[in-house]
Amino acid sequence: AKAWVLKQHFEGFPKYSDFELKHEQLPELSDGEVLVEAMFLSVDPYMWPFSRFRMQPGDVMIGTQVAKVIQSKNPEFPVGSHVVGQCGWRTHTVSDGTSLIRLLNDWPLNVSFSHALGAIGMPGLTALYGLEEVLAIKPGETLLVNAAAGAVGSVVGQLAKLKGCKVVGSAGSDAKVAYLKELGFDHVFNYKTVQSLEEALKQASPEGYDCYFDNVGGHFSSVALPQMKCFGRIAVCGGISTYNNKEPQTGPYPQLTMIMKQLHMEGFLVGRWEHKNQESLKRMLTWLQEGKLKCTEHVTTGFDNMPTAFMGLLHGENMGKAIIKV
Ligand code: NDP
Repeated sequence: AKAWVLKQHFEGFPKYSDFELKHEQLPELSDGEVLVEAMFLSVDPYMWPFSRFRMQPGDVMIGTQVAKVIQSKNPEFPVGSHVVGQCGWRTHTVSDGTSLIRLLNDWPLNVSFSHALGAIGMPGLTALYGLEEVLAIKPGETLLVNAAAGAVGSVVGQLAKLKGCKVVGSAGSDAKVAYLKELGFDHVFNYKTVQSLEEALKQASPEGYDCYFDNVGGHFSSVALPQMKCFGRIAVCGGISTYNNKEPQTGPYPQLTMIMKQLHMEGFLVGRWEHKNQESLKRMLTWLQEGKLKCTEHVTTGFDNMPTAFMGLLHGENMGKAIIKV
């Protein structure tokens, strides 16, 4: 069995030498335990700040995977069943089942299991709950979403279109802009090449924004907030532009804009609505099968390439969900 461990804490952007590939000896199974083998692994932005605050050198990198049960002494997880597991960056894991969730029973044959790490998994749920629970978005409203070509952002935009909204998205390359137009976004721009972010936001929606789904934070948010309509709502989902900050952040938000426009802003973690996950995943799966939701994946092949895939994600190389196929 192989595992990727954190060799040393990241200084700024992670580099290859911060990771180490280790071989693990697997223990014999005790009663109640199972052995799972990774099929697809996920790399996600949260691994960056998480490694700084919750991990020590020598720890296996945290992460989710879709895995197959290959040995079992636990009747809840028979051999051959598929699970989503919080197993870390590992090829094989012995688990007592507490870190595993069975895939939906009626997972359709024509849908890759890898989507359980993307649109039909945590990122998709983040998009759905951010829109429905935090923003309570309504038809006819105008929504702004950044990191729009990513795992969360691409689902946010598509679901908002399904709900009858006008959607404006930003992304970091022209190829991503073209992809988002194909997905049906109303206005998309490349935030790296526009002359003025403020002008780009104004041009895309001169009347302003009712809702802002923020994946990026920092400078982008400081510029976006004054473009909100009065009583606008903001879902603070992520701050990928700030994950590299060495110093604690000092307020990126223009306080006066918040007050004068009486904005509603709420940070959230997708786990808050865990009790709704089964029903929500079924809804998303139906949209996927009906062709209403498109899920692009950025697939890297080979477990040994996990650090490369992770670093690529943080540099914006992924279009859609970043996945590693073992
Ligand atoms: P993505 O698939 O969107 O990948 C990250 C993308 O962020 C990159 O492709 C890149 O796209 C963009 N990016 C990287 N650096 C910057 C930067 N400095 N400024 C602007 N954009 C940048 O990741 P996810 O969809 O998985 O996650 C999106 C956000 O949602 C993250 O902030 C994540 O932490 C957060 N999140 C929050 C959850 C919650 O419960 N609150 C749950 C899941 C995710 P580009 O080329 O466009 O720059």
